[in-house]
Amino acid sequence: MENSIKTTQVLVIDDEQDLRDGAERILTRMECDVFKASRGDEGLDIIKEEEIAIVLLDMKMPGMDGMEVLKIIKDMDKEILVIVITGYATLETAIEAMKIGAYDFISKPYEPEQLRIVVRRAREKFELKREAEQLEAKRKKTLLDLDTEKSRIHTIIESLPNGVVVTNSEGKVMLMNPSFRLHLGIDKSIATGQHIDTYISDKALCNLIMEISRGKHVDFNDIPTYELLLPNNKYLMARGRPVLGDKRECLGAVVNFMDISAMKTLDQLKSEFVAKVSHELRSPLSTIHEQLALVLKEFVGVKSEEDQHMLSRAKEKTRGLISLIGDLLDLSRIESGIVVQEPKQVSLVDLLKDIVDFLGTRAKNKMQSLTLEVPDDPLPIIKADPIALESIFGNLITNAVNYTQDKGAVKVKVEYIGINIRVMVTDNGFGIEERHLDKIFDRFYRVKNDKTRYITGTGLGLPIVKGLVDSIGGFIDVESTFGKGTVFTVIIPVKT
Ligand code: ATP
Ligand code: MG
Repeated sequence: MENSIKTTQVLVIDDEQDLRDGAERILTRMECDVFKASRGDEGLDIIKEEEIAIVLLDMKMPGMDGMEVLKIIKDMDKEILVIVITGYATLETAIEAMKIGAYDFISKPYEPEQLRIVVRRAREKFELKREAEQLEAKRKKTLLDLDTEKSRIHTIIESLPNGVVVTNSEGKVMLMNPSFRLHLGIDKSIATGQHIDTYISDKALCNLIMEISRGKHVDFNDIPTYELLLPNNKYLMARGRPVLGDKRECLGAVVNFMDISAMKTLDQLKSEFVAKVSHELRSPLSTIHEQLALVLKEFVGVKSEEDQHMLSRAKEKTRGLISLIGDLLDLSRIESGIVVQEPKQVSLVDLLKDIVDFLGTRAKNKMQSLTLEVPDDPLPIIKADPIALESIFGNLITNAVNYTQDKGAVKVKVEYIGINIRVMVTDNGFGIEERHLDKIFDRFYRVKNDKTRYITGTGLGLPIVKGLVDSIGGFIDVESTFGKGTVFTVIIPVKT
């Protein structure tokens, strides 16, 4: 095809051999591929076989004459330009041929230059036409490609197992796939185009999607995920991303919904397993611990210092294990929601005094000051589970002492603000880097750096604290400057 643009295929149909050969010579020099036929039917056969662009057709031939051949060529579905060669000044034939669809004519006898002019003209016309056709074909192909690409993406989104919903910058739903409809029980008859809160009833999730749609989270890394609990006990994890335009302007949001019910069940099974194992281990370990303590007493003065040291280390380790098991049990109790035992009337000031007294020894060992600041006016008595409160502040103050250098200061301040009691545990210790702050409440999360590396712990303290604070309807927050210190603030509602 490309090749035939350069060398045009020309067919000469003429009964006079001299004229055929003469035309061939001229046309070959014009870089044409020349085919020759002495009769009409012979010429038509060549047309069927070859990709002929131009036909030089003698009108007057024995047998099938030129006009007849022209008609047949025109009836063929081919873009062939026919130049008719008319006899001595027979203009009528030329006109008639043009009417049927001949492209041009030349009359015998012709000069080589005349032939060159008509053929060149025809060739230009033919090439222009072919170029236009090729352009058109290309355009059609791109459109077709676009179309198939569009439908391909459409098919993929439609068959995704995850729910997908796309909103515009106003929070209107532009697209939702069948999985999304299935998860949220949205009937097929309900069309897109409405605001997101028409389809999702969870207010907090709608707010998050609105924020993403409006471009509040252009930084992909700071977008929180959201767990959605559906009425049929199904858990969905929603994860959204903004759709950004060329200039990084926000065009809307894409939100993906993954069914995490199975993971949740597994998590629950794991917690139950941990709880069971912890429970089973606790009493034998306690027995071992007590027996070690007894044996250790008998060692005094009898066995060598080394033996005593070894045994007391074993006792220490067992105590550590018992405390770990206690933590795990607390955690699983918090997770299953059976934490708050009997809410009792508690004086928070007394409770904090006891804890500060108890932990005073530990602070003294590190030459730290540990102080409690209470308001002049008596605090209202609160109704809560004292064990939960002890665990909350015990953990926070222990952490403050542990993660503060020798000679540091730990301050506990309690005050009554509005309808809540606020307790702040402040230290001037190691501090926590910003990037760890939202993770320290995760189970087993511990910050490892030069200062904390040698401090033992399991990373269960803060998750327990968080669970307990939640269970009494409170609120906990942390602020910290690395290298300077940390403040944990707990808000406890006063219920009357
Ligand atoms: P344990 O389960 O024995 O309490 P832990 O103290 O390591 O172990 P968390 O109480 O959950 O676990 O604390 C998690 C992490 O948070 C700690 O490892 C520590 O790095 C950091 N952290 C907690 N409190 C402070 C604080 N007051 N100052 C600096 N870092 C702290
Ligand atoms: Mg701790």
